[in-house]
Amino acid sequence: MSRILMLLLFGLWAGPAFCEIKTCPSDWNQRRRGDCWIQTGAFGSLAWAYVHPKGWVVDPRCFQDQRFSRRELMEALDLAWRRLSPSVPKDKGGCLSRYNPGWAAQLERRIWTWRMHLSCPEPGGQESRNFPAFCASHREVGEIHLLSLLNITSCQGCPDWLSGVIFHETLHGAGADNFSTEEHNRALFDSQKMGFMRDRVYATSALCYLEPSPEFRRYVNPFMCREVASYGNEAVLDAGASWMQACSGLESHYTNSLPSCMLSHGR
Ligand SMILES: [Zn+2]
Repeated sequence: MSRILMLLLFGLWAGPAFCEIKTCPSDWNQRRRGDCWIQTGAFGSLAWAYVHPKGWVVDPRCFQDQRFSRRELMEALDLAWRRLSPSVPKDKGGCLSRYNPGWAAQLERRIWTWRMHLSCPEPGGQESRNFPAFCASHREVGEIHLLSLLNITSCQGCPDWLSGVIFHETLHGAGADNFSTEEHNRALFDSQKMGFMRDRVYATSALCYLEPSPEFRRYVNPFMCREVASYGNEAVLDAGASWMQACSGLESHYTNSLPSCMLSHGR
């Protein structure tokens, strides 16, 4: 089906007025066509949802969320994509392009093909109250991966925190976990074992969001980077010099904590 322009009464994108929106082709996810709208019941009742240019399907309630502006959300998604993209160099906001470009390419594809949906349940509503210790959550619902922003303000404080929360849940959605959910949710309390360093989701989030900040990079060390660099590419571990080269320049001391703003679950 070709793209068509429709006039719709839609007050979320450009105010309470008639406005033009662009509908996506039916195979938008296969063809990776974004910056358009689809009708979906994924967020509750049937509604028009925006497909971000990099593939996330955005709940229309996100555009009314008082905790961030539409612009802040778009910038957060754009940064999350740059951090995981295989084609954005580190000095342009990239991250995985340097540390694990093969995984980066897989992640970029899976946002589309694994149907990542960013949900914004009502702040303070039932879903947030069900998980009071969670900034955000991920769950599979049929064919889609629902990334829900819950009590996100408790994750404020880290660099680019909103983007970091979305990035973290996107990693879950893309199957990056190497710990069980239970272990992951308590990893940050398990400081004796320093589980957070081996937890791929936390290690990757720290590497991509804390390392670029002079204030926060002391939390990131080469062993967290090693978890990232070796994923799907275990030969990197054998070639010790290879990952050490990719991970050079990080703080060499062992941190036994992450900043509290990084704790996405189980506070
Ligand atoms: Zn998590």
